[in-house]
Amino acid sequence: MSTRWMSVLSALAWLWLFAPMLWMWPSSRSALETVVSGLLFLFCLLWRGTTRTAVVILLLAGCSFLGYFFAVRSAPDEFFWYSVLGSNPTEAWEYASSYRINDAALLLGWLLPAIAAALYLWHAAPALHNRWMRRLAWLGLVVWALWIAVSLVKGYSMTKAIARVENVYPLTMVKAYMDYQSNSQSLYTIPKVPAPVAPPMVDVLLVVLGESSSAHRWSLLGYQGNDTNAPLQAVRDQMVVLPVTTNGNNTGKTLPVLMTGQRMHPLPAEGADTYLDWAGAAGFHRDSMTNQMAAGFVNLALRQRSEKFLQLQDGSLDGALTQHFSNSLAKGPKPLLITLHMYGSHPRVERRTPPQAARWADPYDNSILYTSTLLADWIQQLDALPHVRAAVVYASDHGQDFPVCGGSYTHGVTRSTYEVPLMLWANKALRQANPVWWTNLQHMQSAAVDAQGIPRYNTLLMADWLRTLLGQTASVQQPAAGAASASSLYPPQESSSNCGNWNDRVQELHPAAVR
Ligand SMILES: [Zn+2]
Repeated sequence: MSTRWMSVLSALAWLWLFAPMLWMWPSSRSALETVVSGLLFLFCLLWRGTTRTAVVILLLAGCSFLGYFFAVRSAPDEFFWYSVLGSNPTEAWEYASSYRINDAALLLGWLLPAIAAALYLWHAAPALHNRWMRRLAWLGLVVWALWIAVSLVKGYSMTKAIARVENVYPLTMVKAYMDYQSNSQSLYTIPKVPAPVAPPMVDVLLVVLGESSSAHRWSLLGYQGNDTNAPLQAVRDQMVVLPVTTNGNNTGKTLPVLMTGQRMHPLPAEGADTYLDWAGAAGFHRDSMTNQMAAGFVNLALRQRSEKFLQLQDGSLDGALTQHFSNSLAKGPKPLLITLHMYGSHPRVERRTPPQAARWADPYDNSILYTSTLLADWIQQLDALPHVRAAVVYASDHGQDFPVCGGSYTHGVTRSTYEVPLMLWANKALRQANPVWWTNLQHMQSAAVDAQGIPRYNTLLMADWLRTLLGQTASVQQPAAGAASASSLYPPQESSSNCGNWNDRVQELHPAAVR
């Protein structure tokens, strides 16, 4: 082969390694970014050592970009690093095996040629023999030198300098890592919380952080399929439950917002206060148990801001939480805040339910039924406590895309992913002591969706409720105006016509979602 053709082949192989963004979002802009990125890094092909290092990095980066994209439909952001650095092999494998077949095929569609391209470049290195190609490569180096010079002259920080080139593939990932790093400073910061303005309304409070449960499949919220909330029907009149919009489609984005009731991107440098801090300020003993290893704000906060913290073996069935809950209930001093962080309904839903509890053909419905069984059990244990005011607050972090939108249950961008159940149960003593509060909650419940069937509230409501229960804000004493009648519009029909990207609506419905 002539050196010219070898150079052309090398250039094509090289560009292919830069193509993951184009693979994720085919558009002229992605195509341009691919070509520009490839040209800027073309200098790597000038030498054998840099060629070989570069192809290995590009293969790994491509796998990360596409692997993450097909799991959560986003380019690697800071939550990618939270997930990667805090995950374990079992969970990673479950994610991998929960892929839709066509997503896996798309991933391989890039990866197999990429491996071939990398092998070719590895053996051909240094592969740029054509004079024009070499000139282009050197030109790229000149651009980088200019970037360094400008950054130095203008006194940019590393973060700012990298931000200038974050659209150059694969530097997005470096930028995301730096965001993750700088945020990890504020992650550890626990802000000072003001003393409660009112006495706490409860003596025992259970907060359940759910996982991957969509409001669209809650029978209590109108789902007409299986009675997924059957175990909770007996206590229906002791609870309020409504569908709310969540701010994102993955745990890293959504749980911190549930816990703090505020925007978490970027993380407030002075630290973010959580319901754990409000409880601490009110003198609560705090026990937290988690069945998830996800790194980042949530587990750190639970660990740092609880008197007792317990991490179960990742991916255990959620029933394993019950024994620890009962223990804590029996031994924990009052007032008491218990947090249970469930594994819920993901990523392989059929594995989230003990076989004997799998009642229906639909594994997702089964997992919600199982969650309901556990919630009912925990409620029952709380209800049996004498002489205390007790409450349970449950919300799911995000939902899932449904099979009607292609493949299996998976993290996605359709409406069912962005609407989650928010539930509050109150025992008799608590309801009787606060009749106006209780009536207002019921009004809220009956006006939970608007005339178009869209949830009126978002997940910030959970923190509102918790602030009131813990005395950070005083409970309203005036009865709210009469509410609209319950809507029969919820949930929307499950059909392939409802599989569009709901993210734009979420931007309107949830202040913490705004990009
Ligand atoms: Zn999640």
